[in-house]
Amino acid sequence: MIPYRPEPFTNFADEQNMKAINKALEKVSAELGRDYPLVIGGEEIMTEDKIVSINPSAKHEVIGRVAAADQALADKAMNAAWETFKTWSRVPAEERAGYLFKAAAILRRRKHEFSAWLMLEAGKSRAEADADTAEAIDFMEYYGRQMIELQDRGRQTLVHLPGEDNHLDYIPLGVGFIIPPWNFALAIVVGMTTSAIVTGNTVILKPASQTPVIAYKFYELLVEAGLPAGVVNFLPGRPEVIGDYLVDHPKTRFISFTGSRAVGLRIHERSSKVKPGQIWMKRLVAEMGGKDAIIVDKDADLELAAQNIVASAFGFSGQKCSACSRAIVHEDVYETVLNRVVEITKGLKVGDVRDASNYTGPVIDEKAFNKVMEYVEIGKQEGRLVLGGKPAGDEGYFIEPTIFADVAPNARIMQEEIFGPFVAFTKVRDFDHALEVANNTEYGLTGSVFTRNREHMARARAEFHVGNLYINRKCTGAIVGVHPFGGFNMSGTDSKAGGPDYLLQFTQPKLISEVL
Ligand code: GLU
Repeated sequence: MIPYRPEPFTNFADEQNMKAINKALEKVSAELGRDYPLVIGGEEIMTEDKIVSINPSAKHEVIGRVAAADQALADKAMNAAWETFKTWSRVPAEERAGYLFKAAAILRRRKHEFSAWLMLEAGKSRAEADADTAEAIDFMEYYGRQMIELQDRGRQTLVHLPGEDNHLDYIPLGVGFIIPPWNFALAIVVGMTTSAIVTGNTVILKPASQTPVIAYKFYELLVEAGLPAGVVNFLPGRPEVIGDYLVDHPKTRFISFTGSRAVGLRIHERSSKVKPGQIWMKRLVAEMGGKDAIIVDKDADLELAAQNIVASAFGFSGQKCSACSRAIVHEDVYETVLNRVVEITKGLKVGDVRDASNYTGPVIDEKAFNKVMEYVEIGKQEGRLVLGGKPAGDEGYFIEPTIFADVAPNARIMQEEIFGPFVAFTKVRDFDHALEVANNTEYGLTGSVFTRNREHMARARAEFHVGNLYINRKCTGAIVGVHPFGGFNMSGTDSKAGGPDYLLQFTQPKLISEVL
């Protein structure tokens, strides 16, 4: 088999590529406003109640209306998933992986079309959408290969005892409830879903209510790749109707969640209660928030640091759990770095992502918009607003990239996840102080250090307590297979998506020993 290699990003400076994505954008624009069903065991079901998905860059534009499940349909999905589990769990690993490879090939062919959906439904710029689609391809290529390796590992790694034949089989768990976020509306949906099915489980996939159409498009892709009905049951629904219901359900075997700390903790608590008739402890894989920091040491390459703070803080309007929301800068270079970050950020245009000159798109919805604006008010009490902090037009949920300076490490805007184009600067005395401030959070997802000092690099490696530590590089943009992704403490279960241990979480090893 060809070894896994990450999908290259598209260079939109090349006119041909720009033309291709703009053409895809036209095609997708002509398909807006349609109705989409939910799908259980291959049966398409339309419901009266619909989730309406809108374009966050243009609030009046309806992306699509998607059927919303009630609890009876959730039960139906659960039964269909268990029924399919009987056969799907017996399908050989290579064959299961084969569906992922086929789906990846189709997605690669229709890359720009999927990126166009991401631009319109999630408000991603061309480059951010393209990276999301590339990551989706990567997850399928990577997890397919990982599954084959995992199976071989179980056959080969046990110690040999003469007269016995011993195998470790990584068998699936059962039916999983998959709850992905809207911020990587393709990549993370694909990663969470295909990891669970390639290991032999069947799933109920509840897409995020902000981005259900792109999730449906992914479901269609799986059908096109020939995936048997009932392996993935596409079940959009309101969290208050089917969210808790399926988390609590005695037949749910595992839950894979990516989203906020609050929802993650709620799932953690609820899923730990054993319901009548339930014969297992539910397994939970949860990727939650971050309050990620970039440390700039006094002898760092300051231009590199400034460029990367901007990219990490404002790429996709800061709506990544990996985004830099705290810049921790040595006092000797604090003013220089702050001024440079402000200068670069002033050059970022905000607005509808269809206009390629706009770097910063909208935030996802009204709730997010209000939340960020509330934090701007809080920030004004806690620091010095040096840039942004205002809405940018009311066609969409636009907010100017916002920078606060001189913020104390314990301030709310240095502690609470904001999930918007928002970064706070704090000044530190020395590297010890920088590490202390960086670790002063209940999260532990990503972090970067900009320094030329080898001793400080070594200190950061040992003491900066984050799941993904980057040195002289931005703190966003982990690549599948290259930078396995996940965090410590309140950032979740550190599942390391896109890493060699990820699939294990959706399996249970069974030892089979035969005396010869
Ligand atoms: N894996 C993404 C990154 O490295 C972030 C994922 C997320 O925001 O959930 O930027």
